[in-house]
Order: sequence, then structure tokens, then C-alpha cells
Amino acid sequence: MKAAVLFESNKPMPITELDQSEPKTGEVRVKMLAAGVCASDHHVMTGDNPTPMPIVLGHEGAGIVDAVGPGVTMVKKGDRCVLSFVPSCGHCRSCRTGLSNICDTNRETGTRQYDGTYRLYTSDGTEVHQFAKLGVFAESVVIPQQACYPMPDDVPMEVAALIGCSVTTGIGGVINQPNMRTGMTVAVIGVGGVGLNALQGAALMNASRVIAVDIHDHKLEFAYKFGATDVINASDQDAVAAIQEMTGDGVDFAFDTFGHKLTTQQAYKATRKGGTTVIVGLAPDGMNAEIPLVELVRNQKTLVGSYYGSASPHETFRKILDFYRQGRIDVGGMVTRRYKLDEINLAYEALERAEDGRGVIVFD
Ligand SMILES: [Zn+2]
Ligand SMILES: [Zn+2]
Repeated sequence: MKAAVLFESNKPMPITELDQSEPKTGEVRVKMLAAGVCASDHHVMTGDNPTPMPIVLGHEGAGIVDAVGPGVTMVKKGDRCVLSFVPSCGHCRSCRTGLSNICDTNRETGTRQYDGTYRLYTSDGTEVHQFAKLGVFAESVVIPQQACYPMPDDVPMEVAALIGCSVTTGIGGVINQPNMRTGMTVAVIGVGGVGLNALQGAALMNASRVIAVDIHDHKLEFAYKFGATDVINASDQDAVAAIQEMTGDGVDFAFDTFGHKLTTQQAYKATRKGGTTVIVGLAPDGMNAEIPLVELVRNQKTLVGSYYGSASPHETFRKILDFYRQGRIDVGGMVTRRYKLDEINLAYEALERAEDGRGVIVFD
């Protein structure tokens, strides 16, 4: 089985032949068909998100189940699946309280499978980690059955792959906010893969104003296709002042989909009295933001994090697949570049250049 393996940060990932164990109890093997090129993998490559190595990256993927281990009941061989990068255990405290997107067991076991062991080895026997238990930059993955969400035949694989991360994180992070109501004003700071989907989420919620903020004009132009009603280039104007001017006193909901103290502070300042700031993007490990505490209290703002759509990933997948099949969201239009697995390093160079839309690895 071939996979792109990261042995060291800030080095290219060589395509490497790995030994892959058979699926154990409750696990399945999925032949990969499409994998998205997401910035979260890039944070590992650069060392911003320190992660054990060697590791196979890739956490946004879709494929077809081609082998099942003992005791698998949720999927069967031949099922086409969206893969969840949080394969919820179902019995930890977070899962029991409805937050299976932040499953405790998944977090504790991290890049190993649920029994704490590995399924991938180099030719000299070194254990290889799977990012988010997946590691989809590989011809196949052995993963928990809970990572698989079977989907209808009419959904293209590259669409399914994107639903596995950016679409669910962006749309779910908006539509699953409990205080979101029709006609609210929304700003989205950062319109990469997740940001474009946050715009679509705001459109699904009938926001009266959907303001996209970025530092690249070409990305803002692209954002109009996904529901932006107004755009602001924060490199040539003060984004907070511009949002306040457009809305009178700030937006009801501001989303930071980039993840940095500067964008979080912007989102917070652009949020109106009684409004909500949602942080969706992951900042570099250890970074803190400065939030004016008196203002937080007196203006009764809410500051909240959102991970993987804020709710059960499988339940958000269900909603998104319905929206997609009804033509209410555009997912295919985000895919602007396609690569083979052995072009993975080129795919990440395009991401570094901040090109529009999303790259997808398409497997034979
Ligand atoms: Zn759990
Ligand atoms: Zn991702």
C-alpha cells in the first residue's frame, strides 16, 4: 500500500510503500477514492501543530469499504462513504452528552486506533501514525467503522471528500449555532475552504447580509459564488470599521475561519452588542488572543469555539448531503485543482500560494 508519509516537518512527503495490517474488531479497510487538500494537514507539515511522526496526513476523504473486520455492523463491503475525522466512540462523556464531534476517546487515542495500536508500518517495522485516525493520503486506510458514513450513489466522490472536513466545519459551524435566526447579519473572516462553506451556511440560514473578509481580491471575487453579499479586503481597509459602516453597529454573528489572534480580535470587534463571535479556524499551537473583558460583559457578547460543525459529524453529514442533493449548496464548484497522490507536494505548494478553491487528490 502506497502513502505520502511525513517523516520530518518542513520536508516534502515521499510516496512510500507501507505494510498495512488487516482491520481488527470494529474496524474496516476503505479504498480511498478522493482526498481534500486541507490547511490542517499543512499546519502539521510546518510544525505549527506538533504531531508525532512518521505520519500519513489527510483527514478529508471519501472511499469505498473493501474489507470489514470482526463485529462490524454499521457498514458493509461496497459501501461508499464520507469519512469522519472524529470517529466518535459513542460511550464517552462527550458522546453521551451529544457532542460526539469532540469525542474523548478519539482525542485520547489520537493518531492511533481505538485499541492504542497502529495499522501502518514502514519496511523496517517503524510504526506510522494516521492523522485523525484516518491518514487519507494513502491508497487505503484501516479505520474504526464509526469513521464511515454511508452515502447515496449519486454523490460524487470528490464532493463526499470535501463534506468530510471543510463543508461540515464551515456549514455546520453556522447552521448548528443555537442562536442563529433568519435575517441576521453575518461576517466571515477568511474565505478559504472552510470560509466559503461558512458563507453557504449563512445563506442557508437566510442571513440578510453575508460579509466576506479576506486579504486576496481573487478569493473575495470567488466568495460571491458561495453566498457573499458584500466583500472587504482587509489588506487595504480597516475590516472592523467597514463592517460597522455596512451594518450600523456590527454583525449578529462573526466567524473567524482563519484562526489567528488578529482575525479573532477582528471578528470579536465586528460583533454587535448581544452578538456572537465564533472561532472556527485553528490558530498556531499556544497562540492567545486579547479580548477586552469589560466590553465582553457590558455588550453582552458571546465568544464560542466551533469544532467540526459544533455537533455530531454524522448528523451534520446527513443534513449536508440533503442540501447538496437538492441543489441548495455548491460543493463541486469549490474543487479547482485535481492531483494524483504522487503530486501531493505540488498540491500543498498551491495551498501555500493561496490559490482559489480546493485541491483534491483523485485516486485511480
Ligand atoms: Zn466518544
Ligand atoms: Zn480539514
